[in-house]
Amino acid sequence: MQSDDVRIIKERLDIVEVIGDHVRLKKAGANFIGLCPFHEEKTPSFTVSPSRQTFHCFGCGQGGDIFTFVMEKESLGFREALEVLASRAGVTLSAARGGEKRDRSLSDIMEMACSHYRNLLRGPEGEAARAYLGRRNLPPETWESFELGWAPSSWDSLWNSLFRQGVQPKEALDAGLVLEGKGGLYDRFRGRVIFPVRDIAGRLLAFGGRLIDGEGAKYINSPEGTLYSKRKNLYLLHRAKEAARASGRLILVEGYMDAIRLHLGGFGETAASLGTALTEDQAALIRRLADRCCICYDSDLAGQEAAMRGMYVLQKAGLDVRVVELPSGKDPDDLLSLPEGKDLFGKALESARPLILHHVYLRGEMLRSPDKRRKATDEILSGLGSLSPVDVAPYLPRVASAMGIFPHELSGLLEDYRKKGGNREPSAPAKEKPAPSGKEDEGNEVEAAVCALLWKDDHIRRTADEMKILSLLEDERFQTVAAALLSAPSREDVESRWHSLGETFPLRAIARGGEWCEGLGEARAAWDVVLDILARRKARREYEHIREKLSRGEAGREDLLRFQEVALILKSSPREKGK
Ligand SMILES: [Zn+2]
Repeated sequence: MQSDDVRIIKERLDIVEVIGDHVRLKKAGANFIGLCPFHEEKTPSFTVSPSRQTFHCFGCGQGGDIFTFVMEKESLGFREALEVLASRAGVTLSAARGGEKRDRSLSDIMEMACSHYRNLLRGPEGEAARAYLGRRNLPPETWESFELGWAPSSWDSLWNSLFRQGVQPKEALDAGLVLEGKGGLYDRFRGRVIFPVRDIAGRLLAFGGRLIDGEGAKYINSPEGTLYSKRKNLYLLHRAKEAARASGRLILVEGYMDAIRLHLGGFGETAASLGTALTEDQAALIRRLADRCCICYDSDLAGQEAAMRGMYVLQKAGLDVRVVELPSGKDPDDLLSLPEGKDLFGKALESARPLILHHVYLRGEMLRSPDKRRKATDEILSGLGSLSPVDVAPYLPRVASAMGIFPHELSGLLEDYRKKGGNREPSAPAKEKPAPSGKEDEGNEVEAAVCALLWKDDHIRRTADEMKILSLLEDERFQTVAAALLSAPSREDVESRWHSLGETFPLRAIARGGEWCEGLGEARAAWDVVLDILARRKARREYEHIREKLSRGEAGREDLLRFQEVALILKSSPREKGK
């Protein structure tokens, strides 16, 4: 069970030690404080509580337990964070006995292949490849840092090497490194410069191969399989994550060379999509790092339908999508190879167009032509209609003017479009951000305290009256957290579910509520205080509601009776720390 793993890992690891690897912590009373690793600050507002095994930042609101910390700090998913912490704690994951362990050995084989290719690039067989890379203006130190390799034209160079190291045919096939022919196995990549593709945590998943001469596809990639899914990864993202987080944006290019060139040019926040159709999985990856995504494709590609749809997928996921247009149809590799390329690219980035305006710009000619105007208008409406009204609002005037109509007319069209159900997927509720950049509305502290106490004390959790608790909470988010805790078999069970769903709000709320309860004594005592405060708040709301009815002359007999009861509750002596 994953929840057992979570529990055992938490028993073995101390949050102060885990966070201490990243943050210099100082003891302050029962807690530790330090400079928050999630936002810039000069005075510490980041607190770690050894007794609760949680952290919380008063500056940016980030908070949670060791899993949250590792996921946020390293930009990992729950499963990956679980692996990292399990190996630190010396715990063998229960699920790892099946599928996971196999993957690990496939990864090992991939690493063996990677060093084989890299050695060949340096050796006598790599001469043609080195000449090619020289022509592409990539100096030798970049071959090392980007782990470039060379797969010679021979049919069995890699397979021979793997075989000598004890790799089984099945394993090499599963890793996608070889193919099976009539005469046996042969290498997939031949006569190609090799680009290793790693996931966000740096694990080697796939290779891309660039043909340097002869016939064949210019680029080929490892096949989709157990290890690699193109839809879920971005090339160089593991190297881009720090810079992306620091700058708040990710630059997305199409190919290997463009991505490497931008990294060399000082734009370390760059990754490559290796294809045109961006996916929701990729959008979620980017959202972990940055709020803005600047897409920089070849100019012809940026207009293609598939590319356009992909950009809307990112925008819909809550990213601020900008489309970068490079001067006179150059690709990033060309541009950055110019002496003034860095400046030119920087300027192009600054003037990148918001996706919606880019779309309108692309359809400019169609919009001016009487025959095509209708089609272009529909297309833009369907793009706008797929986004939340909040995203669209700032651009309505400019879009309307490009369409030759008034903004209120465009609003009307858009409303009709939405009503007709053009927006098939109902607009998802605004997703909470995984790494809040500013201070967000984190809700009422006392309601957070309810969640914290349900979390902390198993007796309270098992005996609390669910209906009563939920009726005291006004914020739907806390209701959801409390309901999950109240209905779960164990708290670890809910926790691993939150982690695997990528929900960060619950643990932030719990950490924050825990802070609030500090000084209220043991959990049961704090529980009484918290419930009392919320019951009074509820009574006060009811009191005001009935009083309003009375003043309008709409109150009935029952209202009058209830009014007296509520007034009594409010007059009874309040407990300590009331708000
Ligand atoms: Zn912070």
